[in-house]
Amino acid sequence: MRVAGKRVLVTGGASGIGAASARRFAAEGAHVAVVDRDAERGRAVTDELAGRGASARFYRADVGDPGVVGDVVTQVAADLGGIDVLHSNAGAVAGSTVEDTDLADWDRVHAVNVRAPWLWTKAALPYLLRSGAGAVVFTGSTSGMVGFPGAIAYTSSKGGLLNLTRSLALELAERNVTVNAVCPGHIDTPMTRGFFESPDDPGGLEGRLAAHAATVPMKRLGRPEEVAAFVVFLASDDARFCTGGIYPCDGGMTAA
Ligand code: NAP
Repeated sequence: MRVAGKRVLVTGGASGIGAASARRFAAEGAHVAVVDRDAERGRAVTDELAGRGASARFYRADVGDPGVVGDVVTQVAADLGGIDVLHSNAGAVAGSTVEDTDLADWDRVHAVNVRAPWLWTKAALPYLLRSGAGAVVFTGSTSGMVGFPGAIAYTSSKGGLLNLTRSLALELAERNVTVNAVCPGHIDTPMTRGFFESPDDPGGLEGRLAAHAATVPMKRLGRPEEVAAFVVFLASDDARFCTGGIYPCDGGMTAA
């Protein structure tokens, strides 16, 4: 895949799918900017990559804070000499039903999962246009493709993100910027483990994860690296005719 030399900004790159994406881009010769609110884990990722001779820098930010987006994007572009790829990946989750979801949860989740992808794309757009082969890849979710009870703010926000993907793709189709979304199904990441943790039964976590995996047609959880491989393909020069796509990476879940 051709991403060598591309200047890539990954949000939520300190953990899970974002960290796997940063690692894969770096392994393929890209220059990587990791943005995350967790400075310790974020720096651990970029230090690891730099230790292997890759070009990687860390920037601390809450992606849901509109006040910081412009400054971070400007700094990344100055440090990297531009931006070719935005992997807008950071996400917020709330596992609550229609009755249990409160206004604060609803707003927090939508601010990170829909508003932030729009804001980061808007801020990065001048650089993506200058790139000549700009690419935006969103981390969506299969729960934005189909109904999913018990996480009402999350599924609503991911559904919004997928239509943002299509609309941005059409707005930018003649300007050489592609916009696509990869939709992970059940992936084994700290977010998933956190979702299934129970203070009353910490020892039951592996059992609950196994039950979760049993609902996947392939009978296993996905690995963050499997999602990252797809992200890197969509950002690569091999995918320049792909835009507006919503691509599940879910072990067959949405085929059912
Ligand atoms: P993860 O392991 O928790 O990694 C997400 C990273 O993003 C964490 O470092 C997290 O920091 C950071 N982050 C979250 N909110 C942020 C914010 N407002 N500003 C800056 N950084 C922020 O989660 P993941 O499973 O890799 O999830 C990545 C994406 O995949 C999300 O968009 C998620 O919705 C999507 N996804 C995941 C799955 C799955 O099964 N794991 C399935 C479908 C979609 P903290 O640790 O401090 O929160």
